Amino acid sequence: MTMDHATTTTPVSDPAGTPTSTAATAGGRALAAALTQFDAAADHLGLEPGLRSVLRQPQREHTLRFPVKRDDGTTDVVTGYRVQHNVARGPAKGGLRFHPHTDLDDVRALAMWMTWKCALVDVPFGGAKGGVTCDPHEMSLKELEALTRRFATELEGIIGPDSDIPAPDVGTNAQVMAWIMDTVSMHRGYSVPGVVTGKPIAIGGSVGRSDATGQGVVYTIEATAARLGLELQGATVAVQGFGNVGEATARLLHEAGAKVVAITDVVGGVHDPDGLDVPRLARRFREHGTVAGAPDTHAIDNETLFALDVDVLVLAALEGQITAANAGNVRARILAEGANGPTDPGADPILRANGVTVIPDILCNAGGVIVSYFEWAQNRSALAWTLDEINGRLRRQILAATDAVWDRAGADGVTPRLAAHAIAIERVADATRLRGLYP
Ligand code: NAD
Repeated sequence: MTMDHATTTTPVSDPAGTPTSTAATAGGRALAAALTQFDAAADHLGLEPGLRSVLRQPQREHTLRFPVKRDDGTTDVVTGYRVQHNVARGPAKGGLRFHPHTDLDDVRALAMWMTWKCALVDVPFGGAKGGVTCDPHEMSLKELEALTRRFATELEGIIGPDSDIPAPDVGTNAQVMAWIMDTVSMHRGYSVPGVVTGKPIAIGGSVGRSDATGQGVVYTIEATAARLGLELQGATVAVQGFGNVGEATARLLHEAGAKVVAITDVVGGVHDPDGLDVPRLARRFREHGTVAGAPDTHAIDNETLFALDVDVLVLAALEGQITAANAGNVRARILAEGANGPTDPGADPILRANGVTVIPDILCNAGGVIVSYFEWAQNRSALAWTLDEINGRLRRQILAATDAVWDRAGADGVTPRLAAHAIAIERVADATRLRGLYP
């Protein structure tokens, strides 16, 4: 199913044909994309119909409405979500997003991608995602803490080290994870560090977690560039998004000798064909909340950034950025999906025809969940690994998955995205068959 994303309102149907959403919202488009990718892989694998309908839908969905007191004394009722897509391979795992566009469909799509990501890189987790429809940038720290602690309270009975382990995503960070860990620990009467990952190191977080997603993006770019005969040293790079993923990716690529020529964030962007000073921009972003307007740079918008003649384009912001409408403008040799779902299915054939090699999201940004797994394992064993151990294991694990994807794509004559989904869905299907149907 190819969706024209600007105009389509096609219902997304479950296998029985019941509409579950429309593609009129950003979340609906993300869900449509996730289901299109699943269907393509299920067709490729010849997945039996019963299993197909099990894997196509989330196992559990929670919608939580709760009041939050604002600093001015008024009360808002906000909506939060936690969707567990599948737990056949282990406890549910996935981030929490605080964003004005977060809705149930968005969370469903992101939860499904988490299931495939965990299976692809072989961490013993199922897939989940959650979030709150809110704008954290419009809230005071006190309001954000109150919202987070109340959300954590609503999630009691759903999350836990053996059942479902949240982590940071768009609009959340290590501090938000600390509040969740503390709230759950207060309720239980003892510290429960393993209830979330991406915590501050002082309370059980892991070294290497804050850079892990970006580090993983860089490892997958390096491996892909090597297959294409492209040197990372001196390669030109453009990056959309300058948060946890985009900033770390840009900084680590800069340190590896690549030339980062353009960066955009939600406010604006900067461009310098001679290469940007990424550490300086990171400092500016921390101070001003944007890279826009940095001295000695030219302004650039997203569409111009997507069309730059660079070696590597990194998408590290939100879903649905490259569509059938603008895919033809992309001139990069490698498109690295640091974000989840940044490329609409309608864009994939155009990118392929134009020789753009896509590193699919469930592979490219899996470094975060790999190191989250290491954090959870350290919490459970009460051990602390070194940064060298973390990065060594991360590198081995993500490169093994990268090799598996390229080999499968070659063997089956399919795109890396379809190969990645096929490997992952096969693993979840195997686990489901082995466990059998209860009762
Ligand atoms: P973040 O909130 O830390 O950063 C998001 C960045 O995107 C910000 O710099 C923001 O300014 C920018 N942005 C938002 N809208 C934009 C727009 N229209 N144009 C340009 N920039 C825009 O979030 P994050 O954790 O870095 O997540 C980014 C993406 O990576 C999301 O898709 C997320 O699901 C995915 N991801 C995150 C992790 C993780 O460990 N944090 C792991 C895997 C995948």
